[in-house]
Amino acid sequence: RARREETLRRQLHNQVQELKGNIRVFCRVRPLLGEEVTQAGGQIPHLQVTDERSLEIGKAAGAGANETMSGRRREEGDGKVNFAFDRVFPPETSQADVFEEISQLIQSALDGYNVCVFAYGQTGSGKTHTMEGGRDDELQGVIPRAVSQIFDACAALKEKGWSYTLEASFLEIYNETIRDLLSTSKEKMNYEIRMKDSKLNSKTKEVYVTNLKVVTVTEQADVASLLERARQQRAVAATNCNEHSSRSHSVFTLRMEGRNALTTETCHGSLNLVDLAGSERLKESGSQGDRLTETKNINKSLANLGNVIMALGNKQDHVPFRNSKLTHLLQHSLGGNSKTLMFVNVSPREDCAAETLNSLRFAAKVNQCHIGTATKRTK
Ligand code: ADP
Ligand code: MG
Repeated sequence: RARREETLRRQLHNQVQELKGNIRVFCRVRPLLGEEVTQAGGQIPHLQVTDERSLEIGKAAGAGANETMSGRRREEGDGKVNFAFDRVFPPETSQADVFEEISQLIQSALDGYNVCVFAYGQTGSGKTHTMEGGRDDELQGVIPRAVSQIFDACAALKEKGWSYTLEASFLEIYNETIRDLLSTSKEKMNYEIRMKDSKLNSKTKEVYVTNLKVVTVTEQADVASLLERARQQRAVAATNCNEHSSRSHSVFTLRMEGRNALTTETCHGSLNLVDLAGSERLKESGSQGDRLTETKNINKSLANLGNVIMALGNKQDHVPFRNSKLTHLLQHSLGGNSKTLMFVNVSPREDCAAETLNSLRFAAKVNQCHIGTATKRTK
């Protein structure tokens, strides 16, 4: 009986989700690590995951005293602020458990949707751990698990007459400039975002990046070596790797085109997995010259991502896709024919509480948005 109730509860939840549209927000709290454990006495008193879908942050830890009530945020008199999301993962949640919650979404790329998964949060909150993860099997993050699932699904669909072509690319946006993480050439290339007619339907346009390396992958091992190449590229570029990755967005894209030999159906989908630049507020005072431009660009592009999602949600006529490289690149994967998931990653450190609150507020705004209804691109 308990299982039946659980099933019913899930079904109801899914129906609510259908009504809500195609954007989801999942919050993940990382565990205390290393010295943090002893420093905090193993406790995270200011941040409590209250149930599967909500968490509470102590106001003393950073919440403003007269913050306005808005959206799905509920303020109580006891100095706590509540946030509700589609899912909240407590610190002990494994990589496999996180993936289980998004595997259906990943699957829908093969059904012809453009799927976008973002990791948003301050530096050190667990974005890269969530998206890439570690090298050990059980530590693998969303990207390798998604790739593996796609390959398995393609193999299974073969029996029903489907054959898929998979193309991968991996780029980075640093200071509003695109860099190809798969390129092996030393030559300096110009990477511009352009439009072209879709192969499937000349009436629809597709975004592409000039000179970007697009690799056709036929087996899972191909992708693993691409991911490793990208990892090395990022490390080489940076004198301080952490600093570099905290200031750039990385975008892994897998495009899939399927044809069914039995039914002549075709299907076109994509998966965009994005590790965003650190969301910590960067102070413009104190920076000068190139550094100031860089700081402004990072603040601007994250803010613009929020504005785009908001504009889509409010069905505004003008959506400011072109105000930043990231949204320009992803314009067909946000809104319209797409499904979007944002992870908001937060740190359990008490000295990070103010940034945690900023991240949760941003995520709460995103969570209120209902971006259209996704449609499959099939013919
Ligand atoms: P970000 O990419 O947001 O800057 P990272 O993913 O690099 O943060 O995480 C910071 C550190 O915390 C890394 O050493 C990472 O391995 C570790 N970490 C993050 N999330 C978890 C988690 N859920 N479980 C264990 N370790 C984690
Ligand atoms: Mg990172």
